[in-house]
Amino acid sequence: MSKHIAFFNFPAFGHINPNLGVVQELVRRGHRVTCTTTDHFAPAIEASGGHPVRYESVFGDYYTSPYTEESLKGEGLRCLREAITLADAAEKAYADDLPDLVVYDFMAWGARFFAARHGVPAVRLFPSYGANETFAIHEKFPVAEMTDPLVMDMLTQLEAHLPSVGLEGVSAMEFLTKIEELGIIFLPREFHYDGETFDERFVFAGPCLGDRSSFQGSWKPSTGRPVLLISLGTAATGWPEFFTTAVEAFKDSEFEVVMAVGDHVDPAELGELPAHFHVSRHVPQLDVLRHASLFVTHGGMNSTMESLYHGVPMVVIPQMNEQRANGLRVDELGLGRLLTAADTTAERLRELAAEVHADKDVKERVTALSERMRQVNGPVVAADAIEGHLASVR
Ligand code: UDP
Repeated sequence: MSKHIAFFNFPAFGHINPNLGVVQELVRRGHRVTCTTTDHFAPAIEASGGHPVRYESVFGDYYTSPYTEESLKGEGLRCLREAITLADAAEKAYADDLPDLVVYDFMAWGARFFAARHGVPAVRLFPSYGANETFAIHEKFPVAEMTDPLVMDMLTQLEAHLPSVGLEGVSAMEFLTKIEELGIIFLPREFHYDGETFDERFVFAGPCLGDRSSFQGSWKPSTGRPVLLISLGTAATGWPEFFTTAVEAFKDSEFEVVMAVGDHVDPAELGELPAHFHVSRHVPQLDVLRHASLFVTHGGMNSTMESLYHGVPMVVIPQMNEQRANGLRVDELGLGRLLTAADTTAERLRELAAEVHADKDVKERVTALSERMRQVNGPVVAADAIEGHLASVR
């Protein structure tokens, strides 16, 4: 029977992209799917068949992760303000149209405020690592100390807010670490650290890629050369020089190079480029990966999953904590190599790229993992789990 399923998103590419395939599948099954979104992602939501519920995020049109310790300060407080904004927007949008189920990105805390206030069941989405009683990625790779005064301030404010949404007596930490009856993780279990500790409350759907061609365009190679994709993702890296280093590294290479420099670098600043380089701010990444032989990436979780899904080995140059965790995992599973930003010179990058590209064992492992990932129809697995949960809470 058709249901109203409300997705609550966190306004960032890495958080929205994995949802699109699931939205598409639920719509295909006849459900009405609404998705909170900023203007920026509305076309992507519409392309997947979801109905955008627009709101003004405190992060602007979309979130770009802060990379420096300085800019990370107070991030928790900004996330709390975002949560309150999101929950207020949901109150207005859904006042006379309560959803049957809330499906929320793990960073969209506002969904939890809304769901708790109205007693609507909720499913949690993990576009990156899941969390259970024994595993949390920030414990394995710590970012901010829980004793940081700004973190403490956020926890105090969060705890003070909880009674207003009907969560009397719930501590901030209990709220943040709550495990829902259903959590969907967009990774294959074998890539996940401590994957075996996740029980039947969790579903490993793998990446749910969907079709982005209607809003991203498409891409095809124009030479017979092996294709190398270079990208540091969609966030501000604070490291524009990387792209000059990458040009230097591959200007005489055998690759057809596709380089996405993001919103914070002007491609024109890179000067004249060799004919085998295509440089733009954004590229249709799934299309490029379909043809690629190697990906030099910051190791965002989506990029990592998309690369593995397409059987493309990686050189991972992480910019922040979670990406370092991903790069280490890629390295330890023999799916590519980790390179630190500090060690990244044109020469080192060229050498390591050549090494990974020529490594038959890496290619074999990546191809085998890609085949196992392709056997899982992520959107179907996620939609089955969501429908199963809806049936159980009826
Ligand atoms: N992406 C894209 N084109 C680009 C750069 C990124 O389509 O030029 C997509 C990419 O396919 C991925 C997402 O944006 O789905 C980036 O997410 P990720 O977790 O890799 O990194 P983030 O940008 O969040 O750091």
